[in-house]
Amino acid sequence: MKEIILRLLKERRPEYISGEEICRVLNVSRTAVWKHIQALREKGYEIEARSRAGYFLTGIPDRLFPEEIGDGLTTRFLGRSVCYCDSVSSTNNIAKELAAQGAAEGTLVVAEEQTGGKGRLGRQWCSAKYKGSFFSFILYPPFAPPEANIVTLISAVALATAINNVTGVVAGIKWPNDLLLDGKKICGILTELSAEMERINYLVVGVGVNVNQEESDFPEEVRAGATSLKIQTGMETSRVKLVQVFLKEFEKWYDISLKQGFTPVLARWKEMAVSLNCPVRIQMPNSSWEGWAEDIDKDGALLLRLPGGELKRVISGEVSLRLV
Ligand code: ATP
Repeated sequence: MKEIILRLLKERRPEYISGEEICRVLNVSRTAVWKHIQALREKGYEIEARSRAGYFLTGIPDRLFPEEIGDGLTTRFLGRSVCYCDSVSSTNNIAKELAAQGAAEGTLVVAEEQTGGKGRLGRQWCSAKYKGSFFSFILYPPFAPPEANIVTLISAVALATAINNVTGVVAGIKWPNDLLLDGKKICGILTELSAEMERINYLVVGVGVNVNQEESDFPEEVRAGATSLKIQTGMETSRVKLVQVFLKEFEKWYDISLKQGFTPVLARWKEMAVSLNCPVRIQMPNSSWEGWAEDIDKDGALLLRLPGGELKRVISGEVSLRLV
């Protein structure tokens, strides 16, 4: 009922909607309407009440509420069901639990804060409260397990596009899972899967975008390598809008990949990459290779030309890429 009242208030803006009209639409008493208005106010919605005129929505809180993400969302399946968390260890962990229970494909988990946000290889992803877009979603792709990497590439393309559409900023993709602005990380993607030999049971994609952080919001040890949209543009960006545009873009590229194969998204990825056609170092736990990042193959593996001329196929599992 709260959602319907919110929709009515939004539709009527910039005018008042009378309490009587809300009562009529919902077939409830004025007291019931008042209670829901109070509940919305407690969530941070600013609602003016004036006798004889009714209610007027004057402010929407900067929160990743499901009703805000769903407002105007035109995706077919992605983000149609949203699990909202004020604070959570990691949205990927929640999404994995939901997937194991058979949650619908496209189920989205959003959080205002992650206390144990994860990067690859057990690294930490810093997720300051109310500052970033932190979310994960569930897929049941009909791909073979080695093709799961493609979902990370689709996510990177969708994120770079969403960032560009919403802010005008051009972020570059660094293989395999980061977006860079000014050489610093603006966003990370962590794809985790449960699979058997031949098929993927479920796949969870986690995304952390640095949106409205100031430099001081990053711990000292990551500050030098991290940036945010606010640091880059000097302006606040809507975290909700970014999620909405991402969901639409991801779904578009995912559908294209299901229907036409991976060639179109790989081509787009290559156009947006900043870690191709340049010298790179591939860091492994106890050694490293330097070479020329020549291409990626059909499964998203990096093709590295070594100084001796040999072409090495690098899969993302245990390695980190450095631009040199
Ligand atoms: P690399 O950082 O070597 O390129 P990676 O791509 O595997 O490796 P990720 O696992 O994607 O790294 O991200 C984790 C790392 O990113 C952390 O070790 C930390 O250095 C950095 N980091 C953590 N939180 C943030 C953040 N909010 N913004 C930017 N960088 C961050």
